[in-house]
Amino acid sequence: ANPEAKQAEELMKSVFQHDSFRSELQKQATETVLKGQVDVFISMPTGAGKSLCYQLPSIARDGVSIVISPLIALIQDQVEHLDILHIPVETLNSKLTPKERQRVLQDLNSSKPRTKLLYITPEQAATPTFQALADTLQSRHLLSYLIVDEAHCVSQWGHDFRPDYLKLGRLRKKIPMVPCIALTATATPHVVDDIISSLKLRHPVAKFKSSCFRPNLFYDVKFMDIIEDPYLNLKEFALRALHVTAGENIKDVDWNEKGCGIIYCRKREACTEVASRLVSKGIPAKAYHAGLGLGVRSNVQSDWMEGRVPVIAATVSFGMGVDKANVRFVVHWNVPKSMAGYYQESGRAGRDGQQSYCRLYYTKQERDTIAFLIKKDCMRGRSKKNGKIEHNKSSMESFERLVKMVEEPQCRHSAIAKYFGDSPPNCDRSCDYCRNPIAVEQEWEQVQRGICA
Ligand code: ADP
Ligand code: MG
Ligand code: ZN
Repeated sequence: ANPEAKQAEELMKSVFQHDSFRSELQKQATETVLKGQVDVFISMPTGAGKSLCYQLPSIARDGVSIVISPLIALIQDQVEHLDILHIPVETLNSKLTPKERQRVLQDLNSSKPRTKLLYITPEQAATPTFQALADTLQSRHLLSYLIVDEAHCVSQWGHDFRPDYLKLGRLRKKIPMVPCIALTATATPHVVDDIISSLKLRHPVAKFKSSCFRPNLFYDVKFMDIIEDPYLNLKEFALRALHVTAGENIKDVDWNEKGCGIIYCRKREACTEVASRLVSKGIPAKAYHAGLGLGVRSNVQSDWMEGRVPVIAATVSFGMGVDKANVRFVVHWNVPKSMAGYYQESGRAGRDGQQSYCRLYYTKQERDTIAFLIKKDCMRGRSKKNGKIEHNKSSMESFERLVKMVEEPQCRHSAIAKYFGDSPPNCDRSCDYCRNPIAVEQEWEQVQRGICA
């Protein structure tokens, strides 16, 4: 009945070699882009398969699509992937030899270019050569789509703001009739607004946004100050999450079957302390942080990945790019610096869809320390993180939202959803608050009055 649906299905199988769409959202987004009638905004988590939503429509059309991507490394990954699928893809960047560049330009200036997808960085997009190229493609009606990947880079409210992304608005204005597709994994309402206005997306924009709700994660918050023995509390939590019963001998447990956990700590010393306290209580655990040698770190990581040691106490540097399905719990031993980070880190639990647990240990003292650190960063105007300049416009807000979630007791899933601009999910007792709101409120009151248990 729907020609786009049929064509999309066929190309997905024949060219991309997937059995089916990964999700209804991926399917709907791909079909809408393929129709080519509106600008499209797509927000799905990393790994959800956003690329297909523009790559498939691009090969279905006659012309060339321009894809903006922030890093040459990311571009190279995509180019390699598309090469394998025999999809004509090219890139223009500073690393090309003059000869390669010549070949690419020759094809694009020919009457019927072979190239279907042209990947470029935002810096490249702003050059006069590229602007001229865009003009000639446009005048020959050869532009299929303008695609902006990692579109959150356009926003100062995002975590990787890139000033060059702002210049894309100008390119967009040159080619207003070409459908523009913006994709990102991180979109708070502020970021979405910035993307739509900076890229001058045409109204009404078709939006495809996956929900951030993870129903298999149970969230709770514990107040360190009113817990008599926090390490004992942690141990009991870990054993429960891993389904280790009192009768079991921990030495005989197969951790590949039971699963594993991550305990995030702010400081290196805390990682060491937590790991050794757990070990002394009989739970195999190891510390992981940047202060350890590269060799030690990679051994710790493989011990954990391969199920020899179930628990890792780590700084937030651990976990990026680590994809383990059976993480049964994630603990924040210290107050996280932002709602965004808290969601991302705790979200490493339960990737296999099984029931998993996310616990946050909170103290007012730690809250004040973090607030102080963020303010200090803000005064410096910016901070360096992973070699990139991280802007702080969003830092304090993201932290305040986290504090609010704890200090104005409420459904934890709803607090997260609100931060990401989703409507409140049906938590169905998947957090401490929804399970027992009175108990949660009483504990918080107890903390405020400073009464120890
Ligand atoms: P994102 O950009 O959302 O982070 P990608 O587009 O890079 O994700 O896709 C992540 C992985 O998922 C890729 O290896 C891709 O080939 C794969 N993938 C995408 N769509 C499907 C699908 N329908 N079926 C199976 N694998 C898919
Ligand atoms: Mg991507
Ligand atoms: Zn809830």
